[in-house]
Amino acid sequence: MLQRVAASDTPASYLMQTRPDAPVHFFAPSALDARLAEFRKGFVGDVTYAVKANPSDRVLAGLWAGGLSGFDVASPAEMESVSRLCGHGVLMHYNNPVRSRSEIAAAMGHGVRSWSVDDAGELEKLLAAGIDPRHEVSVRFRLDVEGGFYNFGEKFGATPDQAVELLRRVSSAGLRPALTFHVGTQCCRPEAYARYVAVAAEIATRADVRIGRLNVGGGFPSARNGGAPDYEAFFAVINAAVASAFPIRPALLCEPGRALVADSFAYAVRIKSLREGRVYLNDGIYGGLSEFPSMQMPTFEVITADGTLRAGLMQARIAFGPTCDSIDKLPDPLNLPSDTEEGDWLLFRSMGAYLTGVTTRFNGYGRCETVTVARL
Ligand SMILES: *Cc1c(COP(=O)(O)O)cnc(C)c1O
Repeated sequence: MLQRVAASDTPASYLMQTRPDAPVHFFAPSALDARLAEFRKGFVGDVTYAVKANPSDRVLAGLWAGGLSGFDVASPAEMESVSRLCGHGVLMHYNNPVRSRSEIAAAMGHGVRSWSVDDAGELEKLLAAGIDPRHEVSVRFRLDVEGGFYNFGEKFGATPDQAVELLRRVSSAGLRPALTFHVGTQCCRPEAYARYVAVAAEIATRADVRIGRLNVGGGFPSARNGGAPDYEAFFAVINAAVASAFPIRPALLCEPGRALVADSFAYAVRIKSLREGRVYLNDGIYGGLSEFPSMQMPTFEVITADGTLRAGLMQARIAFGPTCDSIDKLPDPLNLPSDTEEGDWLLFRSMGAYLTGVTTRFNGYGRCETVTVARL
């Protein structure tokens, strides 16, 4: 059973005309612009972007052109990309809380004035590097809150008790005190933000420090699990939580990665071989599908070589990537229409985050072209 797809500037029309054998990353710039505009309109504070989610030139330049306030960078290499594309002096927050001394020096050279810390030793490193009262230091704390897909608090974040001490130290050193957290990526529960905001206010009160800014981090979901997320609901919950928790409202800042970029990209991988109960794809967990083992799989459709959609009854098949490594297997079977054939493409939605920059060249794979389309 086949369903016609109109031939136009879409992934299906490109696949039909070009029949590429390597994976293709499809980018719709208008979708990126629209998502940034939604955040800028609805979020009461500065909207910055976590570069690691998708460090490609066209994303960084596109967001900057769309009125982004600045970037969350995690390494000197990311700072170089931002400076090259958006100009020297662009606002950058260095919010990877673990840095070598030479990375700190490089960041100072890039004009970084805002840092996060989750440990006294890291704060001393910054002080030793000569940061002065113009610099903001955000204390990153963590809670055991359910929300995101993986727990960012396992790696980073002070406990609230430690955060009280750190915030006092930031303030007594004459720096600009702030607080930050990360609820975990693809967080579908707005209440997770509310909980963190409430504890941020408690930390500031206990430390007897008035924070200038509260950075609510990233973590906002993409549409990978179905419909477009209701960002207004997230913003409303965050606003209400800030209003009720803080006697004097701090300026707000967010630094989404996934939510800004994921939904403006789709990713096509091709079927190399079909066998009883199995399918072999031209990309897998060492490439663009590297998030699949840790996250719910995004929605996808199956497109034939003449650009039509397969629509037969679903059959579950175990899916393997192209490398000769036996762990290169998707965690869950793929439900493919029964009329699926070798040479068809799987078009995964919401694939703009954590694909560019994560793909490896293992076994000679990992090549992927990016194609701009009018719509996805
Ligand atoms: C990765 C990261 C983000 C972005 O997270 P998303 O879940 O992609 O929104 C934001 N802030 C920091 C400090 C990060 O490390």
